[in-house]
Amino acid sequence: MCRHLAYLGPPVTLRELLFDPPHSLLRQSWAPRDMRGGGTINADGFGIGWYPDGAAPVRYRRAQPIWSDPTIAELAAVTSAGAVLAAVRSATVGMAIVDTAAAPFTEGRWLFSHNGVVRGWPDSMVPLAAELPVRDLLTLDATTDSALLWALVRDRLRAGVAPARAVAETVTSVAAAAPGSRLNVLLTDGHTVVASAAGHALSLRATPASVLLVSEPHDDEPGWREVPDGQLVQATATELRQQALAAW
Ligand code: GLN
Repeated sequence: MCRHLAYLGPPVTLRELLFDPPHSLLRQSWAPRDMRGGGTINADGFGIGWYPDGAAPVRYRRAQPIWSDPTIAELAAVTSAGAVLAAVRSATVGMAIVDTAAAPFTEGRWLFSHNGVVRGWPDSMVPLAAELPVRDLLTLDATTDSALLWALVRDRLRAGVAPARAVAETVTSVAAAAPGSRLNVLLTDGHTVVASAAGHALSLRATPASVLLVSEPHDDEPGWREVPDGQLVQATATELRQQALAAW
């Protein structure tokens, strides 16, 4: 199962955030601690999205292990941002391994990531997919469960549904259609981040000026807390709300 991370707060370099911590996302790509649901390492791709000076997000993603890309290591050392979403991918068996299957998925200011799996793929998703515009299905980033999840969330965002509700409704409807799915997602516009704990681990660390939401804590410093399953967190750099998925 992929590992992902979202950060909002004072600008940090991508290197400080993703490469330097003792149990960084880089390390989680080859030595993750918690791979419930399948997979051993996260070597099928990675992606990083960030917001330069509050502008629309920039995205770098590849279908190769993050440790095997010297370019991103160099860029990360000289790139700072106050809002970042990143993921390392362990493809679910049978799903495409291509650049475009790596999170984050994006539209406009949004960045999205999924850590988990949709059970019964693709048959279990036929009824929900049928409600999407055909064009969205023809232009999915990749033929993966995560790309379809993004299309389902994006459809609600386009309709003006609030981000936390768009995620909560999507997670709830997919879980009903495909029981046993793991549906941890991250969604941000660079100011607010939404994160679901739905079948997989999610931890957070908040300071008065920042918030980090992660699949696995990246160091042993104090301040991390686990988000219980079935909860959804919505946070800015300075405010945080957490309640049951159904309450949003
Ligand atoms: N199932 C998704 C994929 O194959 C997400 C991967 C994961 O969390 N392991 O892309």
